[in-house]
Formats: sequence, C-alpha cells, structure tokens
Amino acid sequence: MSKNNKIYLSPPHLGSNEQKYVAEAFATNWIAPLGPNVTLFEESLSSYVGNDAQVAMLSSGTAGLHLALKILDVGLGDEVICQSFTFSASANPILYLRATPVFVDSEKDTWNMCPTLLEKAIESRIKEGKKPKAIVAVHLYGMPYKANEINGIAQKYGIPVVEDSAEALGSTYNGQKCGNLAHIGIVSFNGNKIITTSGGGALLSKDKDIKEKAVFLATQARDDAPHYQHSHVGYNYRMSNVLAGIGRGQLEVLDDRVAARRANFDFYKNHLDQFEQISFLEEPKGFYSNRWLTTMVTGSYKQREQLRLAMLEEEIESRPLWKPLHEQPIFKKYPNQLNGVSSTLFEKGLCLPSGSSLTDDDRSRILEVIVNVLKND
Ligand SMILES: *Cc1c(COP(=O)(O)O)cnc(C)c1O
Repeated sequence: MSKNNKIYLSPPHLGSNEQKYVAEAFATNWIAPLGPNVTLFEESLSSYVGNDAQVAMLSSGTAGLHLALKILDVGLGDEVICQSFTFSASANPILYLRATPVFVDSEKDTWNMCPTLLEKAIESRIKEGKKPKAIVAVHLYGMPYKANEINGIAQKYGIPVVEDSAEALGSTYNGQKCGNLAHIGIVSFNGNKIITTSGGGALLSKDKDIKEKAVFLATQARDDAPHYQHSHVGYNYRMSNVLAGIGRGQLEVLDDRVAARRANFDFYKNHLDQFEQISFLEEPKGFYSNRWLTTMVTGSYKQREQLRLAMLEEEIESRPLWKPLHEQPIFKKYPNQLNGVSSTLFEKGLCLPSGSSLTDDDRSRILEVIVNVLKND
C-alpha cells in the first residue's frame, strides 16, 4: 500500500460561489429544469466567448454535437468528415444519425485536423459522388486547430464546420475565444473538463436561429399549441437549473483554471525538456491553449509504458493519448485519409496529471517518478 494520496489526471476544482448559486435554485424552488441559473449561465458564457455567441445550455457536449449535426440536416446515408485524433464522443453522434464518418488525420503543428488531408478527403469523397454534409474539427487537449485554413476549405466547398471545443474552453485563436469560430460550436462541462457542472455542455453559434432550433429540439420539439403537438422528433437535452448554478460559479474562476493548467505545462516542460527523447507541443504563433491536459511525447511505446506504470505504482494517474478513431474497432471500417501522425502520437504520447488544484508537492512527487525512469533509460 502506498502512503501517498492518489493524484488524478484531471479532477473537478470548485470555486467559492457554486454552492451559493445552487442554494438559490433550492431557495426559489427552481429545481425543475430551466430557470434563472440557466439563463444567467448562458448570458455569462456568451459574454465570455464573445463574437456575439448565442448559447444553448445542454445536458452534455455530446448532446450538443448530436443537435449540431441534426440542425445541419445530417441523416441516413450522409457522410460527415471527422478528425480521427479525438475522443469517441466527437464521432458517435454521426452514427446516432445513421450517417457515415470519414476520418481525417492530424498535422504535426497542432495535432489537429490536417487542412491538406481535409481537402484531399473532400475531393476523394466528391469523386465517389458523396459530398460531405459537415466537418467536425476538434481543438484537442485545448490546442486550437487551424481555424482559418479549415474554414477556408470548408467555404470553398460549401460545407459547414462543427467546432468540437469540448476540451478548449478558455483557449484562443488569433485573439478569439474557441467555441464560436465555426458555423456551430460545442463545449463540455463534464467532470474531467477545465470547468464542470458535474455533467453538461453547450451549443454556440453566431446565428440566433441555430440557438433557437437547438433549444426547440432539446426540449422535445413542442410545436406552438396549448396541447402537446409534435411535428419533429425531439430530445430531452436541456441543462437543469441546479447544475447551471454550479456552472455560473465555475465560469467565474475559468481564467484562474486556465492559468493554473498552463503553469502545470510550464513546470513539466521546464524540468523535462532537457531529456532528449521527450518533447512537448508548442503553441504556433497566434494560438493560445488552455493546456487542459499536459501531453508529452516520449521516445518509444516502451518508454511511455515504463513511465505510465512507474506513476501508477506511486498512485499517480496518467493516460496514453487518445487512440485515433480510425484504429477503434467500432470506427475502423469507415473511409479515412491518413498520414501516420495520430498513430505515432498514440504510440508514444502520455497525458500527465493536469488538474488546476495540483500542489507544488504533487508536482514534485510526479516529477521525481518521471525523472527516475528517464535517468535510468
Ligand atoms: C468530453 C468530450 C466530448 C463530449 O462531451 P460530454 O460533455 O462528456 O458529452 C466531446 N468531444 C471531446 C473532444 C471531448 O473531450
């Protein structure tokens, strides 16, 4: 048995006002879904993200992706291009709608969707007579994707972009906050994300119409009538007023959380960059990552596993990078456009403990284990 307390990869970190806002929901009996906390949380996220963001609070980021694709009229037999290097939730909604994902590999500068491969994929699908209906691009680990390039290609072919910003709340691209850089964006407030409502998400758009459609679909698609009248399939995807209280408090401390996560990154990089086989993902000019998770590329699969197991032994949680979706049993039969970048990152990459509540002692404890492995390698 270890004498140490366990260090988690990315645990929740509450501020000081969450309980107050939740208590308001109780005191005013706004326990039922919707209510003032939802509206206030939508307004404060809108002003945080800026760029005239219209925000619909939802039960999860996945629900946001599902609604985004539904609003873009994705359905049976359609094809949707999706970044391969991501969490499965980026692509699952494509299957909910019985459409076909087409996976596109990453580029080395950002680890996100490679613009050159994206254009290749679009061309090759058009040749097959299947023009993609949408593009799902992801700001992985908080690092923005090349939004100008991706948007430019999307516009050239007239294909809307869905921005999966689940991991990138607080990140910026050329000075603009991630989440509202595309046709429709989503963020997540799941328990492991940079801020959390325990579970939740939001859909964002510059287009008020899209927000209203999202709210309509998320509340069972009720037509305007005194009785329950339905001419569309609806969903129960709205955020509860209790959880929105947590969200209001969390948003107040988001910038502190970003600063703490970026300090984690700097700590790891400053102490580990000296080892020849170790490298970190730098921010290209104009890119500002929230550093949701600090990721490190090791020299080999073997070294990555040595590091991971040595940390596990000391009750320190680390995790390999996302396994590319084109390698996942459920997704590997679908078309793809690959260059090997995401597969190599998966083989050698490791996510380090990145919580905003890590203490100096925690970080020293983690560093000691890592340095021990690297010195003896
Ligand atoms: C967490 C996550 C999601 C899903 O968000 P939930 O709120 O957990 O449904 C989608 N995409 C990415 C990249 C994520 O990391």
